[in-house]
Amino acid sequence: MVNKKPTVLIVDDVSVNLALMSAILENDCRTVCTEDSAQVLSLALEHQPDLILLDIMMPGMNGFDVCELLKANPNTRDIPVIFLTSLTEEEDEERGLGLGAIDYITKPFSVPVVRARVRNHLEMQRQRDLLQRLSSIDGLTAISNRRAFDRALEREWLRAQRHESPLSLLMIDVDLFKQFNDGYGHIAGDDCLKAVARTVADQAGRAADLVARYGGEEFACILPDTCRGGAIRVADKIRRAVLDLQIPHAFSTVAPQVTVSIGGATMRPSTRVDVGELVRAADAQLYESKNAGRNRISFSSCAG
Ligand code: GH3
Ligand code: MG
Ligand code: MG
Repeated sequence: MVNKKPTVLIVDDVSVNLALMSAILENDCRTVCTEDSAQVLSLALEHQPDLILLDIMMPGMNGFDVCELLKANPNTRDIPVIFLTSLTEEEDEERGLGLGAIDYITKPFSVPVVRARVRNHLEMQRQRDLLQRLSSIDGLTAISNRRAFDRALEREWLRAQRHESPLSLLMIDVDLFKQFNDGYGHIAGDDCLKAVARTVADQAGRAADLVARYGGEEFACILPDTCRGGAIRVADKIRRAVLDLQIPHAFSTVAPQVTVSIGGATMRPSTRVDVGELVRAADAQLYESKNAGRNRISFSSCAG
């Protein structure tokens, strides 16, 4: 994995403070600076910084308000915040830490101490990210696991709501896999799942697409900003690509090789419907594909 420099977002209404902090941290990280507290949330969403240094006394929204806003948003709440402030009262510090900040540094500060604290927090954040990544990966197939799928689906549902864009979901299930295991053994079964997982993942080409192992021999594919027609094309590509793997399945009544059935659904998320509806709709279509003979795709008729 490429070791890229971490990004730190620095917020202070006094530009000379921004220049000073940037200079202090220039060897350790890339810095993004703003004097405008109203911009912090959108900058944090855009740059996904590894750390935010936040002044408190600023015109308009103060640092406490900004921190609350960051902690209320699922896409920014895990970014560590350090208050860097001239407010030295104990109750201010208590309030800042109570809002979820990981540290509180008062001005005037010692340059080496600030640098060391920022380094320590960045290192902790790096380790948290690493653990997060490891805990999101399925041990057998090395693609995303169910936990990562649930998080991604929730995130993409909210994003699609904000942008009023369509969100598609595919549920993919290996056909007659019990017979495959019973006939060829579990080791061969595991190898088959690894090959199918890799192939499914290769077909969902956009950066925002996510392919996960949903459970057992079932996979799921989240296709953000993808309409029904686009999702049908991806589903068809997946079905064909698995067939083209030509993994022999002598115990299948569907085809001489391993096949998958796919169910798909597309929705334009609204606040009235919860994300479970999309999963239920795709699942129902998977059931349709199985009932209609397997090795096929079915899509819900709702527009998207
Ligand atoms: P259908 O076409 O209706 O989906 O039939 P099926 O046999 O694929 O479905 P069923 O749910 O009856 O069986 C799924 C089988 O998948 C059960 C189990 O033997 C196998 N399986 C699930 N997880 C794993 C795994 O991690 N490794 C292996 N080797 N097999 C698994
Ligand atoms: Mg199956
Ligand atoms: Mg199954």
